[in-house]
Amino acid sequence: MNINIHAGHNPDGRTACGAIGLLRESTEARRVKDEVIRQLRQLGHTVHDCTCENGKNQTDVLKKIVAACNAHTVDLDVSIHFNAGAKDASGNGTTTGTEAWVYSVTSPAKKYAEAICKAISADGYRNRGVKVNPGLYVLRHTKAPAVLVECCFVDDRDDAERYDCQKMAAAIVYGITGQRAVAQTSGSPAVQETPSANSPAAPAAPQTPDSSGKTLYRVQVIRQYGAFTSRTNAERLRKQLQAEGIDAVIVKA
Ligand SMILES: [Zn+2]
Repeated sequence: MNINIHAGHNPDGRTACGAIGLLRESTEARRVKDEVIRQLRQLGHTVHDCTCENGKNQTDVLKKIVAACNAHTVDLDVSIHFNAGAKDASGNGTTTGTEAWVYSVTSPAKKYAEAICKAISADGYRNRGVKVNPGLYVLRHTKAPAVLVECCFVDDRDDAERYDCQKMAAAIVYGITGQRAVAQTSGSPAVQETPSANSPAAPAAPQTPDSSGKTLYRVQVIRQYGAFTSRTNAERLRKQLQAEGIDAVIVKA
C-alpha cells in the first residue's frame, strides 16, 4: 500500500502541542508514528511522514499536515493522536480505551478504522469504536480516505500502564494491512539490575537469499542491552544509549 502518516499537533514544548497527562500526546504519537513507519516499510509498503514539527499555531499545524498529505497520491491517510478527558489519574482498573474517527459512514477509511480499533482493543483496551466527524480538519481536507486514531487516553492510569509503543504500532499496522512485522527486539527476558553490555549496536545481518533465490538485504538491530524491574533504571540506560546515538526503546515483557 501507499500510505501517508502523521503524528498530531506540534512537538511537546512548543505552542499547539497535544494533551498532557500521565502520557504526553505529542511525544507518544511521534513514537508510535515512527514505529508504524518502520513496521510498514519492513512489510514493503510505501510510507510518507507528513508530521508537522514547526507550526505557528494549531491552524498552521493542521494546514501544514494537510499540504504534506495532499502532495502524495496514497491509499490512506493515517493521523495518530492520544485522547484526553478520562480524568482517572489513580486508576480504577478499567481502561477508557481506543477509538478512531472517519469523515463519513461511507468513507473507504471506515474498514481500516474498524480493524485498527479491533486490533488495539485486542491488547486489552476498551473498544470505543469508530466515530464519524466531517468537521475534523484533517479528515475534511485530505484527498485520500483518512482515519484519525485516538490510541488511548493520556489521563487514565489504566491506559497509560497498559500502553506500549511497539504493541500500539503493531496493532495499527495490523489494522491497516492485516500483516505483522517482525518484532524489533528479542533476547533473554531475564531480569537484571545492570546493563547487559556496553558494546555498540549489533552489525547488520549478512545478505541471505529468499525462497525464490533473490538476495534480501536485511538491516536489523535486535539486541537487548539490559532488563530491569525498575522503570527508572530502564529509562537511565535508554538515555545513555540515546546519548551514544542508539535509538533504544523500552519494551515491557
Ligand atoms: Zn490530539
